Amino acid sequence: MTVFKNYLGGFSAILLTFSSFVACGTEMYKVSVAEDFDTKRSEAAHPASADKNSKLYGIHAPSGWVKLPVEFRFSPDMDQSQRIHLMAAMKKWEWAVGEKLFAYSGEHKGVVGDSFKDLYSSLQDDVNGHYLDQDWAKTNKPDHVLATTIWNNATDFSVISKADIRFNSQHYLIGDSYELKATTERDVVDMQSLALHELGHLLGLAHTGEDVDSLSIMNPALYIGEGLTSRKFSRGDLERIHFIYGCHGQSCDIDGLLKEQENADWDKLTLTAKRWMQDKGPSPELNFN
Ligand SMILES: [Zn+2]
Repeated sequence: MTVFKNYLGGFSAILLTFSSFVACGTEMYKVSVAEDFDTKRSEAAHPASADKNSKLYGIHAPSGWVKLPVEFRFSPDMDQSQRIHLMAAMKKWEWAVGEKLFAYSGEHKGVVGDSFKDLYSSLQDDVNGHYLDQDWAKTNKPDHVLATTIWNNATDFSVISKADIRFNSQHYLIGDSYELKATTERDVVDMQSLALHELGHLLGLAHTGEDVDSLSIMNPALYIGEGLTSRKFSRGDLERIHFIYGCHGQSCDIDGLLKEQENADWDKLTLTAKRWMQDKGPSPELNFN
């Protein structure tokens, strides 16, 4: 059952193109995500989202979620490392706004990506799910697409009521890129980096061009391969997420956040995520002290 009217089935996915380069070693690609976002729909709903001089640039849902925190579930086939790094990415978005954005409701029992007949049918239940898809063709996306975020809008296009993320685990090895080893069939993709980008869409962000903000996590580009990550926010990412959700406490000091991002002990992020997995509910505090 869908409580809110589905005004717009949003869609976003990360796409690997051929603009890649190969540096020393194997499995190092720069990934372009130019087609990963439904720009036409986003621009039709919010013309300012594409206006590089507007405060709304790079934002597809300026009012954010209809209700916070966003309750979510994992498909049971997601391994511990994948869950921890996905939760760590959520935790990092919470750190950016100083507010609880997500609440863990446990596994989506018996339901995996392949349980759905196609991409959009996973939006037909009440669960905000994160699913691994082993049969990627069902999503109707090309094999090289890394992941897809889909969502429903609520009262109008500016508000999100429901979202799912589908990960292409048929064609990619998704997890901690510092630990995983690529195989001949599957390249390594860093879950925390990919999740930061996809969760950005889930929270209401569109893409930002590299010409506008070259360090943005929402650039339509991502490095994939062993040991390669994109786990940092730009100043613009922080400004844009504050535009949607505001800021609370220390998160209002963007200079302070950027400094902390460079100097904090981020191992504590994964420890916090581990603790979160055991205690369901809103995420625990991330404490660097
Ligand atoms: Zn994207």
